[in-house]
Amino acid sequence: RAKEDGRGAYRFFEAGIGAELRERQVLEFDLRHAISRGELSVVYQPQTTIPSGEVFGFEALLRWNHSARGLVSPGVFIPIAEESGLILTIGEWVLRQACREAATWEKPLQVAVNLSGVQLHSASLASLVHEVLLETGLAPHRLELEITETALIQDFGHALHALRQIKALGVKIAMDDFGTGYSSLSNLRAFPFDKIKIDQSFVRNVHCNDQAAAIVRAIVGLARGLNLTVIAEGVESQAELEFLSNELCAEAQGFLFGKPGDISAFTTLEDEAEPARAAAG
Ligand code: C2E
Ligand code: MG
Ligand code: MG
Ligand code: MG
Repeated sequence: RAKEDGRGAYRFFEAGIGAELRERQVLEFDLRHAISRGELSVVYQPQTTIPSGEVFGFEALLRWNHSARGLVSPGVFIPIAEESGLILTIGEWVLRQACREAATWEKPLQVAVNLSGVQLHSASLASLVHEVLLETGLAPHRLELEITETALIQDFGHALHALRQIKALGVKIAMDDFGTGYSSLSNLRAFPFDKIKIDQSFVRNVHCNDQAAAIVRAIVGLARGLNLTVIAEGVESQAELEFLSNELCAEAQGFLFGKPGDISAFTTLEDEAEPARAAAG
């Protein structure tokens, strides 16, 4: 009898897995056509200097507005894009789109683009970046590429080679989600990073959480010692910002300053004489 229950439970479990797999396959199928259907777009979130609050740049974040489902979270579709290899096409599209748009901004602010480990380990990343810079006319120093620690571990030798080539173009490199990945501190020295992005999980309520505070302090000190810039991600409150300011964290990004997409609020950008632009997609 116990055995029967076990089998029943197993079948139920199996059916659940099947549904999840099918859901994934459907999303992957739809994602294949998302670019040509104009369902992908890039939104921008401001990055600011502490304590002045001056906006020095924006992070480009990908959005998928699915025709039937509406917005699908990057947390859902990026892993599907990575596992299917679609991230190579999609990532190239994001890079081109972000550089093209940034080149039209009124002020020469920085644009930060996320790179997947799959892109980093593809053969031709540096030549793609070079090509996109030439094509869009964006000055290399205005582009920053964000890479997570986890993206480095697959093949250190290749990652190092690719990042050095990209640095040689004059493009900046940031380590994203610092503190949450699998790599060791020695990577900060081995790889040509310009900036550390403190993961938002450490920033959340940092002013009233002793452990988070200790971690943020340590990362800021580490960055200073290694001569890297440091930015705190996910800053939502004035209290968090005050803590960061007291600890001499250089930069901040988060809902306190603007959600992704709030770009026109910064008056720096886009031609206001073109109100119909959004409709052209
Ligand atoms: P990320 O690169 O660490 O981006 C920051 C994420 O935190 C964004 O989520 C942003 O909307 C969110 N965020 C920013 N400030 C706050 C805040 O104050 N509070 C909270 N709760 N959240 C905040 P999003 O846009 O959903 O993106 C999630 C992740 O998806 C990104 O994390 C990045 O890893 C990935 N992603 C997004 N766009 C791309 C892309 O074009 N290429 C690649 N490879 N990955 C991307
Ligand atoms: Mg990022
Ligand atoms: Mg991050
Ligand atoms: Mg993240």
